[in-house]
Amino acid sequence: MTVFNRTEFDNHENVVFCADKETGLKAIIAVHSTKLGPAVGGCRLWDYASDEDAVYDVLRLSKGMTYKNAVARLPFGGGKSVIIGNAKEIKSDALFKAFGRHLERLGGSYYSAEDVNITCDDVAVMNTETNYVLGLEGKSGNPSPFTALGTFLGIKAAYQHKHGHQDLAGVKVSVQGLGAVSYTLCKYLHEAGAELFVTDINEERVSRVVNDFNATAVNIDEIYDLDVDVYAPCALGATINDETIPRIKAGIIAGCANNQLAEPRHGEIIREKGILYAPDYVINAGGIINVYYETAPEGYSAEAATKHVEGIFDTLSEIFKRSEDEQKSTHIIADELAQEIIENGL
Ligand code: NAD
Repeated sequence: MTVFNRTEFDNHENVVFCADKETGLKAIIAVHSTKLGPAVGGCRLWDYASDEDAVYDVLRLSKGMTYKNAVARLPFGGGKSVIIGNAKEIKSDALFKAFGRHLERLGGSYYSAEDVNITCDDVAVMNTETNYVLGLEGKSGNPSPFTALGTFLGIKAAYQHKHGHQDLAGVKVSVQGLGAVSYTLCKYLHEAGAELFVTDINEERVSRVVNDFNATAVNIDEIYDLDVDVYAPCALGATINDETIPRIKAGIIAGCANNQLAEPRHGEIIREKGILYAPDYVINAGGIINVYYETAPEGYSAEAATKHVEGIFDTLSEIFKRSEDEQKSTHIIADELAQEIIENGL
């Protein structure tokens, strides 16, 4: 297996392969950067097809966290961890305790949190062996409402940039995925007067949003073909791809899902098509911003977290302007902004 000469390897400060014989734990922790502060990023439990796939994922995701935390102007570096295995088979308190002991050994250079297949309860078990975890129940609490607020303000920033005002009354928005974040997002959009077109694989979630916010339900695949002003991807990654781009009529793509572009080149294709794209890791940073306030010297404050999340509007406005001035796609400008902040400090 190669690590140092992979394209995803970006001078990561530390990549630790962890195991525990008794519990069968196999994990990789990648600390990409601690330049701005301790590396922070969730732990993902996934049944990777190979160890190489796990290395690829952890290297890519940890670098992504460095950029996300920097652009959110948090005193955090970037890291991520992956536990290799089938969630249905390997989850146990003993396994998460063993993982917690590995976190403890890193001495606070990396703080873990929940991610795919890892719940707040699992993180609480890790916490019995280490303090280097964040996002615990009873501290900063559920991050989703904060992610929803940031996404809503990001949609407004995009609308302001494209149309010169941020009044969403009568604006048509399609929302793909109606989960923890986007239920609240739909609430904000409805209150702002937007007309909602929604879809989800879960019928109950669709009915709830249709009833609560007067939304129109559409079929799963129909979401890409709608004549709307804004498309908000809030479920899966890679929904902006060769197949969907020719179908998308929205002038703005702005939603909370992670990794929306199937490949970086799709960011350039949508820019050429005149679509304004709110880079995913910038618009969806509300949750990690809220988590940061768990560590704030003055203690957790929802008001302080909310104020910080509101800054997503200005950050995106700056990215949109630079993208236009420099004729570069917004995801490239976001990466450049992250690199500048990492280089020069917060
Ligand atoms: P969630 O699991 O609560 O909601 C996702 C929803 O998408 C579910 O209702 C699911 O049924 C639906 N879905 C799945 N496949 C679908 C499909 N093919 N078409 C339509 N709907 C589909 O997740 P969430 O916490 O609301 O997060 C949504 C997205 O935002 C994810 O990509 C997540 O990584 C990202 N995100 C979330 C947060 C947060 O604070 N929760 C923060 C940053 C990023």
